[in-house]
Amino acid sequence: MIAFNIPPIVGKEEKYIKQAIQNQKISGGGQFNLKCNNWFEENFSCRKALVTTSGTHALEMAALLIDIKADDEVIMPSFTFSSTANAFALRGAKIVFVDIKPDTMNIDEELIEEAITEKTKAIVPVHYAGVSCEMDKILSIAEKHELVVIEDAAQGVMSEYKDKYLGTIGDIGCYSFHESKNYTCGEGGAILINKDCFLSKAEIIMEKGTDRANFFRGQVDKYTWVDLGSSYVLSEINAAYLYAQLEQAQEINIKRLKLWNLYYQGLAPLAEEGHIELPSIPEQCNPNAHLFYIKTRDIEVRVKLISYLKENGIISLFHYIPLHSSKAGKKYGSFYGADRWTTRESERLVRLPLYYGLESELVREIINNINRFYK
Ligand SMILES: *Cc1c(COP(=O)(O)O)cnc(C)c1O
Repeated sequence: MIAFNIPPIVGKEEKYIKQAIQNQKISGGGQFNLKCNNWFEENFSCRKALVTTSGTHALEMAALLIDIKADDEVIMPSFTFSSTANAFALRGAKIVFVDIKPDTMNIDEELIEEAITEKTKAIVPVHYAGVSCEMDKILSIAEKHELVVIEDAAQGVMSEYKDKYLGTIGDIGCYSFHESKNYTCGEGGAILINKDCFLSKAEIIMEKGTDRANFFRGQVDKYTWVDLGSSYVLSEINAAYLYAQLEQAQEINIKRLKLWNLYYQGLAPLAEEGHIELPSIPEQCNPNAHLFYIKTRDIEVRVKLISYLKENGIISLFHYIPLHSSKAGKKYGSFYGADRWTTRESERLVRLPLYYGLESELVREIINNINRFYK
């Protein structure tokens, strides 16, 4: 059987976890937490990175940071994971879903401006599959209307847009290190603070609303509850695992890109014959091969293809029931404008196995099976 995903192990994970245990420091704030934060700050030239308990929590921190309140509106695509919306709905905001573009499955930047009202507080572009949204346009809209841009870059670690790393472009960026992502520690995430005004508040939020970070730096002689916050600090054991992955980030990225290209080239003839569509990568994007998907003609063909592959021992998956058509999506949000692409395109999408340890041989086997399905 070919699994859909196997979390990567690149070598030093166990060694670093043992080291964390030997250091007798397994809560947050230890050397591996620091090493991970520094790694992002140095390699991605970002102002401040803080590893967190999950990507979901990084988004929740962002909502607290920008002080989202009841009746605020937040603009995002409907084609995303529940966490993108939850983070803001938890604070009482209304989610305003905007249509995507069929080529990248990312929010259509041309439709954002008309969805803005007096109540709009933030735009949350989601970089689907690690392929960047049209950030220049999104930033200029945000600037014009004085909105905050929070990148959901959960899938976009190591991807670039015009030579900038995703997550470092908006005011705030959020990463995930869930085991399904390119770099992982089981459950984990990071928040990137790209604007100085959010820095000290971010530390307070993640330290359960206390000024403990200042205390550790010797800036105050005791610490106390100063603002809203929660428990968002990553365990040192997870950070140790994550650091081992970050040290091999290039190697993981190169391997994933190689597999992605194998799929792309191998499936090109089927696309030329008009049976499937392949993902398209805009010129200004340098992606991280987070996932490889194809689009079938319609949902009926998709159901058949997924079950054909399963019968042949290959696990493939669809992606996102659009949030606006889900139970909670209807309660906490609404779709602005016409749903021209979101439902239609999401029904055609099939994700194929792609993980660090996947052999090229198996990718060829998957391609052969897809070819056989269409013959
Ligand atoms: C994975 C993911 C998240 C959530 O990250 P977790 O670390 O699993 O909490 C949020 N948004 C998107 C787009 C994701 O893919």
